Amino acid sequence: MTLPKKRSCLEEIKPYVPGKPIGEVKRELGLQDVIKLASNENPLGPSPRAQEAMREAIPEVNYYPDGNCFELKKSLAVYLGVEEEQLIIGNGSDEILKLLAETYLEPGDEVIMPQPSFSEYEFVTRIMGGRIKYAPLKSDFNYDLQTLLGMVSERTRFVFICSPNNPTGTIVDQQSLDEFLQALLPGIITVLDEAYYEYVTAKDYPHSIDYVKNDKPVIALRTFSKIYGLAGLRIGYGIAPFSLIQDLNRVREPFNVNHMAQVAALAALEDKDHVNRSLEMVEAGREQINVGLQKMGLEPVPSQANYFFVDTGVDSQELFHAMLRRGVIVRTGDIFGFPTYIRVNYGTSEQNERFLTALQQAREELT
Ligand SMILES: *Cc1c(COP(=O)(O)O)cnc(C)c1O
Repeated sequence: MTLPKKRSCLEEIKPYVPGKPIGEVKRELGLQDVIKLASNENPLGPSPRAQEAMREAIPEVNYYPDGNCFELKKSLAVYLGVEEEQLIIGNGSDEILKLLAETYLEPGDEVIMPQPSFSEYEFVTRIMGGRIKYAPLKSDFNYDLQTLLGMVSERTRFVFICSPNNPTGTIVDQQSLDEFLQALLPGIITVLDEAYYEYVTAKDYPHSIDYVKNDKPVIALRTFSKIYGLAGLRIGYGIAPFSLIQDLNRVREPFNVNHMAQVAALAALEDKDHVNRSLEMVEAGREQINVGLQKMGLEPVPSQANYFFVDTGVDSQELFHAMLRRGVIVRTGDIFGFPTYIRVNYGTSEQNERFLTALQQAREELT
């Protein structure tokens, strides 16, 4: 069979390899009891109120969803203190990243992203034929915004700042970001990926919405996939000045966010109890994991998110398989360029205990 030639920019793109699903591990290894701590999902599940809202919405799915997400935007606008016109809802915040690239990137345009960080920035850039400049994080995995600034050229369209950064859990502080935005040339959009915003406890975490209110070329991205526990529905949102939102709406599919996702997100936003329980679980998990790792002589990167990045001292692929045999799925650091690190999300206290035991046994097996 002869197919037409693929677009040349696709040569550099490899299909995304997601965190291994639980069902796959059970099938492949014949295990009954498997836990996944590899994709920063919420182990407490979706909010009970979101589940109820979805049950009630089942008879309505013969209709197309509201293409404008009217109810959800109304509720989010109040919650965030912004105008509804400053919001865009996406099929996951991943979709909003793609809309940004489709809206603003011509072939050969450049973006700047930290290294290591979230691979989706590379994907959306490459698919439009854009070029990527990588700015390494400092040795403590904090941002070096001066380095990012120094990489700006006439072709730069976006600077991606992931805060808390995936996979390191580190954040950019308010003052550094203020100074960075002050110094950045006009005509460049700063994409502030705040997927883990709700978990942050640091006092100097930036108020990103103020930049939007002051009409800076900034878009803040948030999601219902993490603390709200709705990753399987695919729904996230962007907060940006109206003119930027208007541009994005030109490329957005008319019914990009499905009805179940809209209904569940609206209910989840109002379920403060579920959010608080999820936060408490992560805070307790951080303590439990730090103590457990310390006993093994390991020190995770200080994290403001629901996951941590740690140097295990052994090959992360071998470790991954040794832990998989014990029914624990983690994310290997090699994909981020750190072959002895793993990224793991905090689980329930039993899951954390199981992780620590599996890690200890796996490391003994490998050394
Ligand atoms: C999980 C994650 C997202 C959210 O993706 P969704 O498409 O909303 O599920 C965005 N950015 C980062 C850095 C993430 O880790």
